[in-house]
Amino acid sequence: MIGVGTLREVRDDVRAGRRKATDICEQVVARIKAVDGKLGAFNTVTAERALASAAAVDRHPERATLPLAGVPVALKDNLSTRGVRTTASSKILEHFVPPYDATVVTHLERAGAVIVGKTNCDEFAMGSSTENSAFGVTRNPWALDRIPGGSSGGSAAAVAAQITPLALGSDTGGSIRQPAAMCGIVGLKPTYGRVSRYGLLAFASSLDQIGPLTQTVEDAALALSAIAGLDAADATSAPEHVPDYAAGLNGDPPTLKIGVPRALLDEGVDAEVSAAFNSALEVLREHGARLVDVTLPYAGAAIPVYYLVATAEASSNLARYDGVRYGFRAAAARSAAQSGQTMHDDLRAMYGATRAQGFGPEVKRRIMLGTYVLSAGYYDAYYLKSQQVRTLIRQDYERAFEHVDVVAMPTSPIPAFKLGERLSDPLQMYLADVFTVSANLAGLPAISVPCGFTSANLPIGLQLIGRMFDETTLLAAAYAHERHTEWWKRHPTL
Ligand code: GLN
Repeated sequence: MIGVGTLREVRDDVRAGRRKATDICEQVVARIKAVDGKLGAFNTVTAERALASAAAVDRHPERATLPLAGVPVALKDNLSTRGVRTTASSKILEHFVPPYDATVVTHLERAGAVIVGKTNCDEFAMGSSTENSAFGVTRNPWALDRIPGGSSGGSAAAVAAQITPLALGSDTGGSIRQPAAMCGIVGLKPTYGRVSRYGLLAFASSLDQIGPLTQTVEDAALALSAIAGLDAADATSAPEHVPDYAAGLNGDPPTLKIGVPRALLDEGVDAEVSAAFNSALEVLREHGARLVDVTLPYAGAAIPVYYLVATAEASSNLARYDGVRYGFRAAAARSAAQSGQTMHDDLRAMYGATRAQGFGPEVKRRIMLGTYVLSAGYYDAYYLKSQQVRTLIRQDYERAFEHVDVVAMPTSPIPAFKLGERLSDPLQMYLADVFTVSANLAGLPAISVPCGFTSANLPIGLQLIGRMFDETTLLAAAYAHERHTEWWKRHPTL
């Protein structure tokens, strides 16, 4: 067997004493060594620490009964890990070692999971290809000359290449679902507030959400139960009850109504993506689901609204990286005394040089855009207007959910593109997000599951979007599709 198997297989074996957590961990570390030179999925590998926590699972019988006992996990490198470098794939945080763990990290370790490393991503999660990393690109395990999607590309590649059965990513406008689709795996963005964001290096706080990338829907359900829940450290985390999501997956849901926004899908969708999407709907229909036409009249505004809201929030969130509080500081060119300037000028020069040298081009572009839309005189025209249209987009979904249980669309309009292909054209890159950003703007849970391959053997993803806090129905719908298809069983050969 290549890889250690699914999350469910690993934890069942560890619980039953069929495999040792330490052996599994060693196998994962060996696989990283064997294949990550080709992929570039990891920024940091925490082999020693992982082996120590695996040993604790083997040594203490009570740890071996935990819900994620011995399950190796890779974490996107924008999730804070105490004592372990956390970079957000930015030069400005290249040597940053957080003094605390993100809440999801605490939850995972309490559940018996073993953290094996930190994965590459677009700098501060800004991008759709994982090419905007200060530490090099990650390659798609299905085609090494192609992008893995982004921004959680390292996490998606690690799971698709069967390195770890579980990885966490963050999704601000599609960064879990889109790389999951492009790498042929499952990616779940929970409802806004479902999972604590404490310890996630913020990109756009009203959109960011942490979620799992896995090989199967059941694994996504198991992972979500472990990381979800109210957290006193995140005021936006919700006091909703956390169900046993995996227990909710049994057979086909009786009367599933699936909304299909046909008008949205007429233009700009690759023909092979379209065909795979239609077959996926057919599979669901054959097994009892009802397909219902829905309209989302404001969907066309989702990309501009998203790029106004996300950049505005990013410009504010990233103001904290100034060379004083965190990470990298540029050496001052001249001291104030030498140049006859005031101390104040010197400090400003240090801020400027730190940010000029520390941030990459896409992050700078977003800070400038965001600062512009928030500035006096433009605020009403851009930021306020985008918030108003955001409400209309949310209401589109509220209306649709009066008639249907989930809304279906492709995850990405295109399969994985070639490395470098869209890098010089940010607008083309932004268009890869047309189907994912609206779930973030509306705060809704959404999942991507494998639903086919192109003739060039590139994976295609089906996206399902659910009602607020109704991950149970969303997962049941995704599971119904998975049970009647075999796409998720395919793995790339490396
Ligand atoms: N691709 C989108 C962007 O560049 C979404 C990124 C994300 O979800 N973190 O902003």
